[in-house]
Parts: sequence; C-alpha cells; structure tokens
Amino acid sequence: MKGQLDIVLLEPHETTLRELLYRANGSEAAAYILFGKAEIVSDPWSGEQRTRLISHEVIPIAAEDMVSSSSMHVTWSTQGFMKLLGFAQQRGLVAGLVHSHPNAEAFFSDQDDRNEAELARTAFNKDRLGLVSLVFGGNNAIAGRLWVSPIEAIEASSISVIGNKISIRRTMQDNVETAFLERQSLLFGSNFNPIIRKLRVGIIGCGGTGSAVALLLNRLGIGYLALIDNDTIAITNLNRVHGARTSDVISGQAKVDILAREIETADLGTQVVARKSWVGDASLRDLLRSCDVLFGCTDDHQGRLTLNRLAHYYGIPVIDVGLRMRSARNDANYDMTGRVSTIKPGSPCLMCLGVVNIHRAAEEGLRRNDPGEFERRKAEAYVDGGGDPAPAVVTFTTSIACAAVDELIQGLTAFRGNTGMTHNRIRRFDRVEDRAMTCLPIQSCPVCGSASTWGRGDVTPFLGVIG
Ligand SMILES: [Zn+2]
Ligand SMILES: [Zn+2]
Repeated sequence: MKGQLDIVLLEPHETTLRELLYRANGSEAAAYILFGKAEIVSDPWSGEQRTRLISHEVIPIAAEDMVSSSSMHVTWSTQGFMKLLGFAQQRGLVAGLVHSHPNAEAFFSDQDDRNEAELARTAFNKDRLGLVSLVFGGNNAIAGRLWVSPIEAIEASSISVIGNKISIRRTMQDNVETAFLERQSLLFGSNFNPIIRKLRVGIIGCGGTGSAVALLLNRLGIGYLALIDNDTIAITNLNRVHGARTSDVISGQAKVDILAREIETADLGTQVVARKSWVGDASLRDLLRSCDVLFGCTDDHQGRLTLNRLAHYYGIPVIDVGLRMRSARNDANYDMTGRVSTIKPGSPCLMCLGVVNIHRAAEEGLRRNDPGEFERRKAEAYVDGGGDPAPAVVTFTTSIACAAVDELIQGLTAFRGNTGMTHNRIRRFDRVEDRAMTCLPIQSCPVCGSASTWGRGDVTPFLGVIG
C-alpha cells in the first residue's frame, strides 16, 4: 500500500465501540473490528494512490479471552484474534483491533508498538491483508494506523465518523488561505473553513439542481469538487442551469465543462475535475470512492441505484435531491414538491423511501446498453421511454439545491441541533412547508435491510451488482 490512508468509522460502529471501550471503572478495554477496503489507484485530484478503510463489523472480545485490565493496560488471549484473521481472509476484509486509553490521549504507546508488531507478524505470516489498529483516547480523539508489514505501520491521514453527522479529523492540517471565507467562520467558528477546504465532494448530475449545488459549494469554499454528467447543454436548460450561456448551446458544450469553466474563472481555490460520463461507468470508480460526500442531482433511476449502494458499501453519505412539479389542471391544485434525502448506512435507502423506480432503472439500462432493442420495445409499448419533459423553474431547482447544501452544513456543524442531517426532507413549494418524512428499512431490502453491505468496500463484481 502506498499513498494516503483514510479510515472511516460508521456511526453505528463507533457507538458500539464506545459502549465496549469505556468501562465504568476506568480500566482499558479492547475490541476487534473488520474493515472493508477501497484501493484507489489514482485519486482524481492528485493522481496518487489512496486507501480507504471502512468499518464493516465490530466484534466484542469474548469474556473468557480477557486476561486482565487496569487503567494502564489491557491483555487478552489471542485465540479470538486467530479466528478473526481467518474470517477476514475468507471475506477479503482487513482485521483490526481497537483499545482505549480512557485517561490519556489517543496515541500509540511503546507498549502498543511492541504488542502490535507481534500481532502484525502473526497476521503477515498467515498472508493476511494487513492489520488495523485504533486507539480511543479519553478526550474523544481517535488515533489509527495500518500495519503494512511486520515492521511498518502507516498513520491514517484522516479518521472520519460517518452517519447522521459528518465528522472528519485530519492528522495533517495545512495552513489554507481562507480570507474570502472570513464571514462564514464568524458564524461557524475557526475550525469550519479548514474542514471545508479539505473536503472532497462529487456532484452527479449537473442540470438545474446540480449546477446550483456546484456553484454554492464553490462559494462555500469546498477544496475539491468532482462534476459528473453525460449531457450537453440544450436551449431548454438555459432557464435554470447556472453558469450556462446561449453561446454554450450553439457550441454544444458539456454541462460539466460549463460549470468547471465558471468555477475556474471564479478562482476561489477549488480544484475541480469534470467527467462527461454516466455515473455507472467503470472509469469513474476511483473518483467516486475518493469523495467524502456525494450529491445525487440526477433524474436517472439506474444512476441513483448505483449511488444508493455506494453510500452503503463505502460509507460515503449521498445527499440526493429530487423535484416533482405538476401544473394546476382542471380542479387539481399545483403540486410542487422538492425532496432532499441523506443516504448512509443505518438509514432506509432510496429504494425503501420509494424514490427509485426499479422498472424505470431497468428501462434506462436497456436504452444505454442496447438502444436498438429499447426502440423496438418502445414501439411495441413494452417500455415507457422518456415521455413528456418535466416542468422546471429556476427558483424551485435552486431552492432545493440550497436545502441540500444546508443539509451538508448541518452534518458538519450541527447548527440545527445535535440530531444530525434530516433523513428525508420534503418541501412543498405550493404550501410553503417543510416536513421530515421517513420510513423504516424494508427487511428484505438487499441494500439497507441488514448490516451486511455496511462498509463492505471493494467486492467483485463492483457493489455486488451482476450485469
Ligand atoms: Zn495503548
Ligand atoms: Zn432499502
């Protein structure tokens, strides 16, 4: 392994670990943990390798394996550890151990170095993928590293806790120039801008909502932006796609290139990469897995299904945006609804929320992969095939984009209180009201019905999807 190491703890796992590791008597404690892994060959911004480890499952150490513990040490038999290594190898996961320093900082002591080197030797003797170690300190801080050989451990460059809240602790804190962001640190404090400057955000879909999200994130000072959309701009997009010009329609510009141009022209220090492509394209996997947060601003049901799985497999929150606009007709009133859903392990997914239509996703897949067959079925009315374009007005697309970016800010700052991001916000523009409407995961749901997808990381086929 080379390059940067990011460790992601899913919020439900972090909660379980805190329950296991902080004893009422103040003694040290330990637990095992399994991680999924993302091996990123080329980070889209730096071109460097990256490894992302995502917590998959916490395994308590059996009571009979515990040897002794005090406020200064914890000792346990390694029998369970051997079992853990076997299980990790079988499933392509990385084994890890976590212990607490309840009265001290989160750091690796000399004793930790010696003990772990011994365990790492055991792991590598058995040809395992490595060994992760985490220390939970008394000050809520977490230290983490990955043993890449029996004698070498790599410190994590970031440790995140991902769930309703987005908490990212970076070990390397460069001094970033944020003079233009001074007014927002007056509101959120001096820690906000450094986090924003390092944040890596992908936007999938760069139309009405996506273009607004992109330019808002640019003004917010996001350090690294990735834009994904396969479309070129059309004349009927100009009523709502921010940054787009009539001349762009004439020259057939891609939506992603228009936004990249606007962001680069603003020159606010955001590094932007633009990919004119469909989100499911295999060439985008490194890019998607490199992001801290994704915004889903696409109408594409198959694309949404990809993001839905990605959120669970890689612990990357997806803030998904949608709009439904119906004109007043006959006796019916206007129906003008916007939606912002935050998808992450532990919450009902886009399928359970009824946002994704599996039937439509299959039709889109057919249209992409076999256009001839799609047209034939359309002629025979077996598939819907597009239909009338949806109504769209710039104030509503932009308003829901603001609501989506606000959700990210809430996840980072808790300005609305400590409950984290709202899982599913419904905005009725025709009634001037916002509601939080959610549901429970459907037990048989293959994505969110169990914890088996959480932090699973790289699997073959990608995201466990065949075909
Ligand atoms: Zn220790
Ligand atoms: Zn689900």
